[in-house]
Amino acid sequence: MDVIDYEIEEINKIVERVICSSKLIACIRSLIRINIKQTESRQITVCIRFPSNYPSEHLLVELKSPTISGKILDGLTTLAEQKASEFLGKPQTLHTLKFIDNYLQENPLCIAYDEIFAVKQLLRRKNDLGSCGGELKCLQKTSNVSLVVNESDYFFKAKYHVPEEYPTKCIEFLEHKSNFPDALLRFLNGQAKEIARKCVEPPLRANIKSDFVVKPSLLPSLRFLIEAISDFTSELCPVCNFKCLPAKAADVELRDTADLYAERVYCGHIYHLGCLKKYMREPPFPLGGKTCPAKKPHPRSDSNKGTKDSNGTQPIKNRKPNQLTDENICGLRISHDRWALNVKLAEARWAQQQARERELEEVKDFLQ
Ligand SMILES: [Zn+2]
Ligand SMILES: [Zn+2]
Repeated sequence: MDVIDYEIEEINKIVERVICSSKLIACIRSLIRINIKQTESRQITVCIRFPSNYPSEHLLVELKSPTISGKILDGLTTLAEQKASEFLGKPQTLHTLKFIDNYLQENPLCIAYDEIFAVKQLLRRKNDLGSCGGELKCLQKTSNVSLVVNESDYFFKAKYHVPEEYPTKCIEFLEHKSNFPDALLRFLNGQAKEIARKCVEPPLRANIKSDFVVKPSLLPSLRFLIEAISDFTSELCPVCNFKCLPAKAADVELRDTADLYAERVYCGHIYHLGCLKKYMREPPFPLGGKTCPAKKPHPRSDSNKGTKDSNGTQPIKNRKPNQLTDENICGLRISHDRWALNVKLAEARWAQQQARERELEEVKDFLQ
């Protein structure tokens, strides 16, 4: 009985007990094939072959997985063969299998590797362009990732959990810290959560439900955050055309009734509260309500929440037919829960104010 016979007997006898998540498919001299399935998404098929002068040479390992990135499988194959090389001249199979099982256990984020890689690429590109700085760190022990995005004087830090059931379950939002104003922060987090949820929950409309497929949620959520954050500091108020946010985060207006308070409305554009009030109160008062005068549609408007088409462009919905012809303005109706000012009321107020001014003029004229 040689080493290979001995190992085949041993593997047949004990492997499923030693590696509890494993299932032995084949175990003969020409091939050992075993499935390791720790969770629905952490599963891998290991094929092991004995080279001709085994055990003086290391085992040949081949890995397949329907859920784990090819890059991870390639890296893990090399590591597993290195592990086998530590036992040259001795039985290597069980050590190698245990190593693979442990690796999956200790690196739960491997199921999101391609997405993590894409987020890092995105941050690197932004760093290179100088538009923002940022970092994504993997915390394998807890299956968390931490994101930091810096944009001039502003920062956003947050931590997300990649659950065992990922991608069937979406990422969880653990904590965040930032010096962006609260209204913008609420939008950022609310929208990022909504994007994640939509990756795993079918829409309510029945006709779309049938062909709904669960998608991984980490990349869409984090991509949205990084892009929105890097735009915030350069956004201009559609009324006065000055930046919505002050250059220094310490100067951010926190009082939500102050003129320089940054208010985000339905179309996605950010206004100075004072400018918005003034704009809403002055004519013209079109029949359907006041529309946003910004020079172009906002890429992250609430009217097309998280629904980018395959080209990455946002569909333009909720526009009136006559506005479709003019792509150079936003043109969406201004609405905001704090801004339910109706047109008739605004018109009446404006008329009243005009009447009062006329009266004053007349009095002045009279007194002269
Ligand atoms: Zn303004
Ligand atoms: Zn707008």
